[in-house]
Amino acid sequence: MSLDKNRALSLFSGGLDSIIVVKFMESLGYEIIPVYFSTPFFHDQKAIEMAKVNDMKIEIIDITDEHLEMLVKPKYGYGKYLNPCIDCHGLMFKILHGYLDKYDADFMISGEVLQQRPMSQNKNALAAVRKVSTVGDLIVRPLSQRLLPDTLPIREGWVKKEEMLDISGRSRSKQMQMAEELGVKEYPNAGGGCLLTDNGYTKRLQDLLDHEMLNKVFIKFLAYGRHFRIDKDTKLLITRTKAESDTISPLLKDEIIIKCKNVPGPFGVIQSSKEITEEIIKLSASILIKYNSKANDTDIVTWGKAFELNNDITVSKIEDNELKPFKIN
Ligand code: SF4
Repeated sequence: MSLDKNRALSLFSGGLDSIIVVKFMESLGYEIIPVYFSTPFFHDQKAIEMAKVNDMKIEIIDITDEHLEMLVKPKYGYGKYLNPCIDCHGLMFKILHGYLDKYDADFMISGEVLQQRPMSQNKNALAAVRKVSTVGDLIVRPLSQRLLPDTLPIREGWVKKEEMLDISGRSRSKQMQMAEELGVKEYPNAGGGCLLTDNGYTKRLQDLLDHEMLNKVFIKFLAYGRHFRIDKDTKLLITRTKAESDTISPLLKDEIIIKCKNVPGPFGVIQSSKEITEEIIKLSASILIKYNSKANDTDIVTWGKAFELNNDITVSKIEDNELKPFKIN
C-alpha cells in the first residue's frame, strides 16, 4: 500500500455492513472517515447511536435537498416501494466525492455486498451507480471487491486487491462473524433502515408526489399520525398517540392546529399550499372528532396557528361513508 494514499471516506448508514467495512479497513491500516448522510427518510438517531456504541467518529451531512430532487424522477426508477436505490447510492457517492478534498481523502468505500439486494447490489446495478455518480472509478467495495472490476485505488496499488473480500449473497453470517472478530459491540437487525421501503409511509409519500407537494415542510410529519387528503392542495394529519403528539408538537410552526375544546384527545394538523378556508377547517374538524372517542357527535373544535387556538367551530362527526375518500393511510 502506498502510504500517502490510505485515507478514504466511507458511506455510513449505521447498518451492520457499514460498520464492519470501516472496522475491517481500519484493521488493515487504512484511515477511514465514516460519513452519514441525513435525510427525512433515514433514522438519524439510530445511526448516531450505532456509531457511538462502536466508538466511531462519524461526519454527518444533510443531503435532504439533493435527495428530494432525485426522488421525484429517479433515472433508474424505484424498487418495490418508493426506494430509488441505484440513484440514491449514485447520488451519495457523487456528494461524497465532493468532500474528498475537504477531508484530504483519496478514495471512497462502502459496505455494499454483491447480490445482497436484488435491485441495487447486482453487478449491473453497481455499474449503474458508477455511471450515476460519475466518480465510480474512485469507489472500492471491500466486502465484495475481489468479485468486482478493479477501480483506480486497486490499479494504482493504494488498496491491495488480495486483502479485499469476496462476500456475495443475502446471508449475513460472514458479516456477523466478522463483527465478532472485529470487536463490533452492537449492530441493528437487517432491514428497516430506510422509510422509502416502508409500505405505509410510501403510500403517504406517493400522495405528496401525486400532488406535487414534495418538500421539506410536508415531509416533516409524514412518519406520524393518520393522513387525509382534504383537497389537491391540502392535507390533514391526526395524531394517534400521546407519544406521537409530544413528538410532533415542537415541530409545529405555521400549520393550523385543530383540537376538541372540551375533551382531551388527538389534535389535527392542517397543511396546505394555499390559503386555508373555513370550509377546510370545518371538514377537518368533522374528521378530527370522528377520531376522538370522548367527543360528542356534535362538538366544539378550537383552532389556530401553533397552539394559539383562539377560534372555535361547532361541527358534527363525519359519516363513515363520507370519510373514506379522504383517507390516505
Ligand atoms: S434503501 Fe433507501 S437509503 Fe438505501 S439505497 Fe435504497 S433508497 Fe437509498
